[in-house]
Amino acid sequence: MDSSARLRHYMSDNGPLILDGGLATELEAQGAHLQGDPLWSARLLQTNPQAIRNAHYRFLLSGADVITTATYQASVPRFVSHLDVSSERARELLMSGVQLAKETVERFVSEGRPAGRRCPLVAGSVGPYGAFLHNGSEYTGAYAEQMSVDELKVWHRPQVDCLAAAGPDFIAFETIPSMKEAEALVELLREFPNSKAWLSFSCKDGTCISDGSLFADAVQIANRSTQLVAVGVNCCSPALVEPLLDSAGSQLSPDLSWVAYPNSGEEWDTERGWLSSAKASALIPELSRTWRKQGAALIGGCCRIGPAHIAELRRQLRGSCEPPASAV
Ligand SMILES: [Zn+2]
Repeated sequence: MDSSARLRHYMSDNGPLILDGGLATELEAQGAHLQGDPLWSARLLQTNPQAIRNAHYRFLLSGADVITTATYQASVPRFVSHLDVSSERARELLMSGVQLAKETVERFVSEGRPAGRRCPLVAGSVGPYGAFLHNGSEYTGAYAEQMSVDELKVWHRPQVDCLAAAGPDFIAFETIPSMKEAEALVELLREFPNSKAWLSFSCKDGTCISDGSLFADAVQIANRSTQLVAVGVNCCSPALVEPLLDSAGSQLSPDLSWVAYPNSGEEWDTERGWLSSAKASALIPELSRTWRKQGAALIGGCCRIGPAHIAELRRQLRGSCEPPASAV
């Protein structure tokens, strides 16, 4: 079955697909030092690919149907300047993100998959231009005011080209803060007609994406694409998901589903990092049934959400009796 047929099959199955949690969160839990690194988890594509495989594997064991590659903050120019590699090697590193995830899925299918679990899928992560700027602007989208749609397409093209060539099941355009960048990505996706994708926005409150535009208007951009399988929100507080989906429910094309993978709801401080709150991450499993009722077909977690949260999410959504996450 080709990947788009598999997607149709999966999406029409009687439960949502469970996404993984924050890959960087899990890598840090296993000892990687990523905070403040302009490449973030993408550096490990060069320095420690086995750590990425292990983190993917733990999310698969915990119940993720989809794992997302370590390429959110990866770009050809950043790899060239920060890893001192050729642009050809930078392209290989980007593609290796998909290959590592696929290898891990193969290992899981042959060694760790419980009976009845579907074959997991791979999403190739594309972060916003603001992630490259490494100044938190993926949560404001302010840079897009000074950029044209074409300039944003030029920025994203090499990354999308590498990911598409490596053949993930989806491309995940994620944490997108502005209408303009969403338009650029939807247009760019047409240059890769065999690729499917989801488009997920960063949001500032219960009705608006980060640049202040209505989420309901942002959803209209997704409706124009025949290659998107879902549109939604990620890396916002879990408490915002229901009002956001509600605010745009009437705008969603019948060909699309919602994707929702909030962070733990803890507060991010640029100086101090995540300000911990023990209870926050418990909200996702608790609220996920509502998102499902609202039509979410892809549900998972973003920053600060680890394998144990995904296992609990799966239990809530699919009543799974699969074994809990265990050490690799
Ligand atoms: Zn996040």
